[in-house]
Amino acid sequence: MSNILIDFYQTEDTQTGFEHFFAKHADWIFEDIQRYHERTGQNWWESKDAADFWVNHAIVKAIIDNFFDKQILLRTHLQWLRKLSKAVIPDLTVGDGNDADIDLSKNHLLFTYYDALYGLALQPIYKLFYDELIKMLREEKTGIKRCPSCRKLFEPTPRGHAQIFCGATCKMRYYRKYKENY
Ligand SMILES: [Zn+2]
Repeated sequence: MSNILIDFYQTEDTQTGFEHFFAKHADWIFEDIQRYHERTGQNWWESKDAADFWVNHAIVKAIIDNFFDKQILLRTHLQWLRKLSKAVIPDLTVGDGNDADIDLSKNHLLFTYYDALYGLALQPIYKLFYDELIKMLREEKTGIKRCPSCRKLFEPTPRGHAQIFCGATCKMRYYRKYKENY
């Protein structure tokens, strides 16, 4: 299983690239894109919503690059994360809409999202992005890492001690180079 944030980071910035990403991680989106078309008369890929989605792909990549290259988080990106955290948490509601006490034998509590993200039901994926980004920024053990040897992003295995390299080959290559240089 590949990490959704790493896949998103590596997704090529084209319609085909994002279609591959959606097919792998969120295939319900294609139906949603169809409904978007029926609802608005507009092709989602050519919409303002898709343009915003594109911009946000760049923001996610910039947050990751800034973290690994410079160990910084831009203030504007912190604000973006805070806004995102609100958008991806569903609201607890009951279907009936009146003020009486809720008879739980007849009503189920529902989780609904306030708004669509970029015109589509992207909240569950962005929730995963959000969780993964926070783990990375907080330098938690299971957060994604960048291999100092090959510079690829990887997801550490949760077991054992903190993993620095993506694999044994990179670890060996790195220490061999280190020995040559010093
Ligand atoms: Zn590596």
